[in-house]
Amino acid sequence: MRADVILMKCPETKRTYGVRIEECRGDWLRTWAFPMDEKRAVREGYNKTKITGDFSASEDFNGCPYCGSKDFVFCGRCGKLSCWNKEERITCGWCGITGDITTTTEKINVKSGGDV
Ligand SMILES: [Zn+2]
Ligand SMILES: [Zn+2]
Repeated sequence: MRADVILMKCPETKRTYGVRIEECRGDWLRTWAFPMDEKRAVREGYNKTKITGDFSASEDFNGCPYCGSKDFVFCGRCGKLSCWNKEERITCGWCGITGDITTTTEKINVKSGGDV
C-alpha cells in the first residue's frame, strides 16, 4: 500500500499538522493526523508533496490535532488544505485568503506546503 503525508493548516490556531494518507483503490484516504513541527516538515520534504485524490476521511480518522475538524477546505489560490469547521466564511490557513475557497468532492490537486 502506498502512503504519504500531506500538510494541512489549522486556521484557528495557525498551526501546521501532518496528515497521513493511504492509497485505496486509486484514491487517497486520510487516515491519521498528527502535530507537525514546520521545520521537520521541510526537512522531510513533506512540503513538496503533490497528490491528486479526493482525500476522504477514513472511518477512524482522528481529525485535526488542534481543533478536531475532520473536514477541510481546498484553497483555489494556493492549492493547499485547511481545516473546515463548517463556517460560511472561510479562511485559508496558508495564504490567508477569505471566502474564495471551495469545498468539493471532485478530485483535487493538492500542493502540500511550500512556505510553511
Ligand atoms: Zn484544525
Ligand atoms: Zn490559500
